[in-house]
Amino acid sequence: MERSDRPGRREQKPGPRPAKFDIPAGARQILQALAGAGYEVHLVGGCVRDLLRGVPPHDWDICTSARPDQTRRCFAGRCIAGTGLKHGTVTVLEGDEPYEVTTYRTEGPYSDSRRPDHVCFVSDLREDLARRDFTINAIAMDLDGDLHDPFGGRDDLRAGLIRCVGEPALRFQEDGLRVMRALRFGAVLGYAIEEKTAQAIHKNRAMLNRVAAERINAELCQLLTGQNAGHILRAYPDVFCQFWPQLEPLITLEQHTPWHCWDGWEHTIRALEAAPATVPLRLAMLLHDAGKPGCKSTDAGGIDHFYGHPSLSARLADEMLRALKFDNRTRERVVTLVKYHGVQIPCQDRAIRKWLNRLGVEAFFQLLEVKRADNMGQAFQLAKDRLAELDQIRAAAEALITQGECFSLKDLAINGRDVIAAGTAQGPEVGRTLNGLLEQVLSGQIPNERRVLLALIGSRQD
Ligand code: ATP
Ligand code: MG
Repeated sequence: MERSDRPGRREQKPGPRPAKFDIPAGARQILQALAGAGYEVHLVGGCVRDLLRGVPPHDWDICTSARPDQTRRCFAGRCIAGTGLKHGTVTVLEGDEPYEVTTYRTEGPYSDSRRPDHVCFVSDLREDLARRDFTINAIAMDLDGDLHDPFGGRDDLRAGLIRCVGEPALRFQEDGLRVMRALRFGAVLGYAIEEKTAQAIHKNRAMLNRVAAERINAELCQLLTGQNAGHILRAYPDVFCQFWPQLEPLITLEQHTPWHCWDGWEHTIRALEAAPATVPLRLAMLLHDAGKPGCKSTDAGGIDHFYGHPSLSARLADEMLRALKFDNRTRERVVTLVKYHGVQIPCQDRAIRKWLNRLGVEAFFQLLEVKRADNMGQAFQLAKDRLAELDQIRAAAEALITQGECFSLKDLAINGRDVIAAGTAQGPEVGRTLNGLLEQVLSGQIPNERRVLLALIGSRQD
């Protein structure tokens, strides 16, 4: 028997590395400068969490016993910004990298839901760590790699747990955004949410009503693209309905059709999990069937139908994305993908050209992803053939593009100047002529060749 197969022998989970972390020179210099001036100074928050997980941090937060004016004096003559000064934050630029250096502090309430109303500077690191949201985010590390971890953050990192620092209910009542942050960390890190923290999330979800839409938006985007987004959606539908009540009927939607082996919410989750982890695609999957409950009918045979649901879903998606203040580009793209998620695209060059023209190349391929993911969330035996067909459509579209085919006016071999030179007066007629030619090119009636097109508009050029 192999050693590792012996009964009772357990795999040791790799724990955090003890010391010698890869800290960039800029952060080191700041830590050294403040320590050299006699202040306490630590790395804190996400960067310590990520160093301990063995993942490169994407930003470096520093906390110190120095008051903001003392920090500024330490970096006199250097490039610093005091935008967060009221809250104790001085931003120091080192080698073009901004580092936020924040005085140890406690926080007052968040009545505007963006920043605490006031902060109190304190001299004890523990108090600063106590105001932080989750134990894994409340670990400080000094230059030698020594850790200050009064709330058991390392144990929770090893166990893969999101746990509030202190009493969960109170922490969510102080700042409702923490409800979304807990779910975001759960989804992104793939950690479980500790039981008392989980209960407090459900109970205090209405605190989200007081949180600025932009803050919810930023957490939601990270959450949906996280590795465990599906688990979080499954376990916390009530939280999502808090800011998007339009989802409520979908959560309880039953669908009796040969196509579906899941109810509405489970199908949505499975489809979302099957989609690539980008914001527009994950949003499109989350919202693609939002209109189904409003379109449900049941025929004499007991089969459910949802005629017209993509249009209603698109309307709801538009409303929901506006409410969370998504940028126009993302909103319009998601709405388009939701609106067309049910279209049948025949696997013929002519049809593919038309859809490429209507959507543009990027959105066309995204739509194929949406359709693939939607099928993946359905009864597999029936979805199999449609998945194969989608692969054929993709291959055919790629071939058309490689051949340099024309899909939009800008690809047409002639332009407005040619039409005017051929005798059409400047104005809407020029566009009509070009569009008419494009239609014929897309349907394969005429080739996209300059000579042919010029001849058709009666030009004497060439
Ligand atoms: P990320 O990887 O997204 O940057 P992060 O943990 O660094 O994760 P930030 O928003 O950069 O998150 O915040 C830095 C630190 O500030 C957190 O680790 C946490 O200690 C604290 N923090 C941030 N937002 C809150 C909040 N709403 N309530 C309490 N503490 C917070
Ligand atoms: Mg951070």
